[in-house]
Amino acid sequence: MAIVGGDARQLEVIRKFIKCKATVYLIGFDHLDEEKDGVRGAIKTELSGEVLKRIDALILPIVGTDDEGNIESIFCSRSLNLSENDISYLPKHAIIYTGMSRPYLRQLVDNTGLRLQEILNRDDVAIYNSIPTAEGAVMMAIQNTDFTIHGSRCAVLGFGRTGMTMARTLQGMGAKVKVGARRPAHIARITEMGFTPFTMDEMIYHVSDLDLVFNTIPAKVITKEVIEELPRWAVIIDLASSPGGTDFQYAEKKGIKALLAPGLPGIVAPKTAGQILADTLSRLVKEQMGNQEE
Ligand code: NAP
Repeated sequence: MAIVGGDARQLEVIRKFIKCKATVYLIGFDHLDEEKDGVRGAIKTELSGEVLKRIDALILPIVGTDDEGNIESIFCSRSLNLSENDISYLPKHAIIYTGMSRPYLRQLVDNTGLRLQEILNRDDVAIYNSIPTAEGAVMMAIQNTDFTIHGSRCAVLGFGRTGMTMARTLQGMGAKVKVGARRPAHIARITEMGFTPFTMDEMIYHVSDLDLVFNTIPAKVITKEVIEELPRWAVIIDLASSPGGTDFQYAEKKGIKALLAPGLPGIVAPKTAGQILADTLSRLVKEQMGNQEE
């Protein structure tokens, strides 16, 4: 396989595949020290047709490419770019793995008829990732308040994979936790788990006593009207993917601290986040190779 660019999380992926006795080509890892970084056995090379035509799997960083095909790597200072010409060298059975993809990458793959697997949105990966995400959110809350989480009044917005872990983590720390959701089944489960539920359309009536708000809903839910009702000391930690779900401008105008907190797993626990990716990718590639043999 070829692993192209990325951050510290990719080290775990590289180590895992070396352990599985795969042939691992590293592209964009110029500054990596094979001994010190524990990746002996991997082959540093360039992005070329010669390499790409030999591989079964192309592994891109968590964020894939940007809108022009550029790939970031913290391990090299050169620019890396993935083009349709590059992809055309891949064997027909090869799979491209990425955390997430932008339209550029999807278009590129569509044009060549290859398969693209986005792993960040898989349930298993999202649930495992919710653990370092919640820990990172707690870290941000501690850094930005002068009170303990224990005994504080918190709201978690959204009861998906991140929201549920966030609510449980806060509850475990002794906070009083309300959770906002829109589905009746979620409201029922929120109640069963001992949180105070509210429906999102009634949110405005549930925020006037909050100390902390953790948003996981990727839609504008913390509106002017909601911010207007929050106490002036409340802190909003917005975990939803950019641009988040908060009217940040209005929060600033009202003097309410609101922080967008993207990419927490990679920041607070790159090793764990890398292991989550490594375990998932190695399982997927093994399945892929098994299917090819059948
Ligand atoms: P998820 O499992 O899909 O949960 C999303 C939740 O938001 C669900 O409860 C969903 O409710 C709710 N929701 C979506 N749109 C809504 C709307 N318009 N109104 C009310 N509720 C709405 O997603 P997740 O894996 O928990 O991830 C949540 C967000 O966090 C995503 O944006 C993700 O990219 C981000 N994230 C950030 C980090 C970080 O480090 N900051 C880490 C992981 C994930 P329904 O079920 O009713 O649709």
